[in-house]
Amino acid sequence: MHTPKYKRALLKISGKALMGESGYGIDPLVLGKIAQQIGIATKKGTQIAIVVGGGNIWRGAEAEAEGMDRVTADYAGMLATIINALAIQDALERIEVACRTQTAIPIQSIAEPYIRRRAIRHLEKSRVVIFAAGTGNPYMTTDTAAALRAIEIEAEILLMAKHNVDGIYDSDPIKEHTAKKFSHISHRDALTKHLEIMDATAFSLCLDNELPIVVFDINELNGIERAAAGESIGTLVSSR
Ligand code: UDP
Repeated sequence: MHTPKYKRALLKISGKALMGESGYGIDPLVLGKIAQQIGIATKKGTQIAIVVGGGNIWRGAEAEAEGMDRVTADYAGMLATIINALAIQDALERIEVACRTQTAIPIQSIAEPYIRRRAIRHLEKSRVVIFAAGTGNPYMTTDTAAALRAIEIEAEILLMAKHNVDGIYDSDPIKEHTAKKFSHISHRDALTKHLEIMDATAFSLCLDNELPIVVFDINELNGIERAAAGESIGTLVSSR
C-alpha cells in the first residue's frame, strides 16, 4: 500500500463547503463527493477526524444581529453542526466507510459524547470520527474546535477545506488582480502579515502548538485525498 504522508489528519469542513452552489443547506452531490474522497484517504492509510461547521444553516453572530440572545443563537449554531455531522456520517456509511460521530454537547440518543481517548481508539481502528457541536461553548467557532481537537488527538496536520478559496494570498484575489498565492508560509509570517486564515483564537492554538495547516479548495479535483497524502495543494502553513 502507498504510504501516506500523514498518519492522522483533522479535516475541517466549513458549512459553506457542503452547500455547493445552492446558497443554503446541504447539496447531496457535494456530500457524496466529499465522502468518496474521505473514504479513499482512509483506505490509503490516513486516519481522518472531521470537524464540521454550521454556517450553511445557522450563524450565531448573524442571529444576534437580528436581535437574538447571542448565547442562545450560538447554541443553535452548534446544533446546526450536528445536522451536518449526521449528513456526513450517513454519506460515509452509504459507501461503507466506518465512522462515529461525537458531540461536544451531549445528545446521547443521536451520537457519542466527545471522549478523547475513545475518539483516538476509533481512529486507530480506521474509523472516521466526526466531531460535532464545535467546542461546546458559545462565542467560539468551529475553526477553533478544529484546531483544539487536532491538537488533542495529536493530528499531524489540520486540513482546512474551503469553498471557493484555494489558498492564502497576500491580498484579496477577488479585488486585486495582482494578488499572489503562497504555496508555503510560516505561522509567524502569516501573523505579522495579518493574513486571514482563521479566527485569532484558532490561529493562536496552531501557532503555539506548531500545528501545520493546509488551506485548500474542497472543489479541487480529489482535493481532500491529495491534501491527506501530503501532495502540494493550496497553501501550507507551518512553523518552519
Ligand atoms: N458555534 C459556537 N461554538 C463553537 C462552534 C460553533 O457557538 O465552538 C456556533 C456559532 O454560532 C457559529 C455556528 O456555531 O456561528 C456555526 O459554526 P461556524 O460559523 O464556525 O461554521 P462554519 O463557518 O465553519 O460553517
